Amino acid sequence: MSLQFASLGSGSSGNSTVVRVKDTLLLVDTGFSAKAINERLETLNVSAADLTGILISHEHSDHIKGLSVLARKFDIPVWLTQGTFRKLKDKNIPKVEFIHPHGSFCIGDAKVTPFPIPHDAAEPCQFIIGDGKRRLAIATDMGFTTEYVLDQLSGVDALLLEANYDGEMLSNGSYPWHLQKRIDGNYGHLSNEQSAALAAAVEHSGLQKLCLGHLSENNNTPDNALGSVANRLRRADENVHVLKRHNASPWYAVA
Ligand SMILES: [Zn+2]
Ligand SMILES: [Zn+2]
Repeated sequence: MSLQFASLGSGSSGNSTVVRVKDTLLLVDTGFSAKAINERLETLNVSAADLTGILISHEHSDHIKGLSVLARKFDIPVWLTQGTFRKLKDKNIPKVEFIHPHGSFCIGDAKVTPFPIPHDAAEPCQFIIGDGKRRLAIATDMGFTTEYVLDQLSGVDALLLEANYDGEMLSNGSYPWHLQKRIDGNYGHLSNEQSAALAAAVEHSGLQKLCLGHLSENNNTPDNALGSVANRLRRADENVHVLKRHNASPWYAVA
């Protein structure tokens, strides 16, 4: 199996995904402590010392918490945009590779295609990672679905998709008005409904794995996210995985 991935945890409080392409092991985002990331990697029978590289989507703390410590401790090169790098508080990273959100590149056996996302960060992008045959897309932290994002996600073989909030829970919840506006604005996050529409638009018979992630702790539940999205899809509910907030998923193979 040449393309595999696993979530180390996904939610508004932290996000990290490990992707294996043949002998290349990549970590996308480091939203947990270096210690927690390493412990969760070990439950998947790999270690931070095995990482070929780290990709960072943007500078929000739920994506970079363990970054500098992890990169220094295990001497791992980091790929990120100049805008994201400029916003890092701890820039002491042994090796930095700057990327352009529209430019594909290779790391070992992995082909990485970044795409810009509408989100309130300096220069945010997400990633499609492939082995030359199969492709996994990670699509979280988006205020809405741009035509370009939709285009990029069409035809992928696996998708880790944001389902951040339930619209009713957000508007009836305790968040102050300005925070509600930030989350449901065009540079915030995808609601379950937006996520469902996007999933329905890109679902095809070759979409082998669909995982929902980046759920809000206060404004969503796994059942609500799954219900909204699965309702719009042709596949059965059990073929949509809701990622855990603080636990690693199993390895998912994309055959
Ligand atoms: Zn963010
Ligand atoms: Zn985030």
